[in-house]
Amino acid sequence: MGNISIVGVHCFGCTACQYICPEQCIQMKEDSKGFKYPSIDDDMCTQCGLCKDVCPYLSGYIGGELYPRTQAIAVKHKKENIRQNSSSGGAFTAISDWMINIGGVVYGAGYDENMRVCHQRATSRSERDKLRGSKYVQSDLQEVFVDVNKDIQNKKQVLFVGTPCQIAGLKNVLGQDYENLFLVDIICHGVPSPKIFREYLEQLEQEKKEKIVDCKFRDKSEGWRNLTLSIDFNSSKIVLNSSESSFYNLFLNNTMLRPNCYECPYTNFNRPSDLTIGDFWGIENTFIDFDDNKGISLVLVNTTKGKHLIQNIGVEIEMKETTHEQCMQDRLHSPTAPHEHSDSFWEDYGAKGFAYVAEKYGVLI
Ligand SMILES: Cc1cc2nc3c(=O)[nH]c(=O)nc-3n(C[C@H](O)[C@H](O)[C@H](O)COP(=O)(O)OP(=O)(O)OC[C@H]3O[C@@H](n4cnc5c(N)ncnc54)[C@H](O)[C@@H]3O)c2cc1C
Repeated sequence: MGNISIVGVHCFGCTACQYICPEQCIQMKEDSKGFKYPSIDDDMCTQCGLCKDVCPYLSGYIGGELYPRTQAIAVKHKKENIRQNSSSGGAFTAISDWMINIGGVVYGAGYDENMRVCHQRATSRSERDKLRGSKYVQSDLQEVFVDVNKDIQNKKQVLFVGTPCQIAGLKNVLGQDYENLFLVDIICHGVPSPKIFREYLEQLEQEKKEKIVDCKFRDKSEGWRNLTLSIDFNSSKIVLNSSESSFYNLFLNNTMLRPNCYECPYTNFNRPSDLTIGDFWGIENTFIDFDDNKGISLVLVNTTKGKHLIQNIGVEIEMKETTHEQCMQDRLHSPTAPHEHSDSFWEDYGAKGFAYVAEKYGVLI
């Protein structure tokens, strides 16, 4: 039968294998690049093979229920302050508001008290607000699938937002569709290393001699299109254009993404979720009057449940129906390609550490 160890570098880090293991002999452990992979206690493993069955990579990708032609919509939240604090058009807030209003539970990615990006559970608006905004780092799912399943079995309405591979892992461990579970995935460029992010924040803290308390990858003070990072310290703040931040450059240059992001099977319109949310890049070529450089979300409606979700949030948002051709972007037709210096980046990082590679590779265009 064998076990999950054969997945190797193709692993998404989705934790499905850890969750399903009846012997609890799988733990997710960080490798030298900072990504988590399953580590198996061979003495405890009975080779039952369940971990392989639920692995989204080994089980092969099965897409969601497909509309003949998945509906695509340009969405903007009617409230300007919500769009200002969201990465694109505030679609996530509209969807999660609906969920909280009906007494449901929202799962998404937020910072913990140590500025680690991890999936968290929210039942109020203030908890949900911490999940708002894109964190361009792989979110640690920890053991969140256990809580999601508990909520589902307790008949709560549940919204889970994550990368498509996280959604696929969750679906595999649940093994069936639940009426009270709503899945939303993001269009995903690929996820950077949590270890590199940690070391980047540590470097800034050492320079400033202050603790970082928040980090916004999509500060819109310079407009939606101008990718801007703002970092809140205990008593001060810095705002950096993406080109001024080594970490942002390394992300956008595809230098330190999780290895399997470069072969992502979800970079198309066949999504594993009910709704897909992303930035509507190129909106200015389609709906010139709708665009105000304050952020427009692209929402793909993948299932009947997704369609009902959109109907439920209709009063909160302005919408414009679009086509696949009009909303096409790179991550809807092919995975991100690694930067030509990616291998040497990791070699140098292993030998000389973060400060060295940040200076050498963090300015590449
Ligand atoms: C790593 C990453 C890469 C992305 N790449 C693209 C891209 O190439 N093209 C594109 O159109 N859009 C991409 N997006 C999505 C985009 O940045 C916005 O998240 C999306 O437009 C939704 O914006 P919003 O205004 O509706 O919601 P927001 O309020 O910004 O909410 C963002 C949602 O994403 C979730 N989230 C945030 N960070 C993570 C994370 N690290 N892992 C899992 N879930 C997370 C939050 O929980 C929240 O539900 C990416 C997002 C991430 C996190």
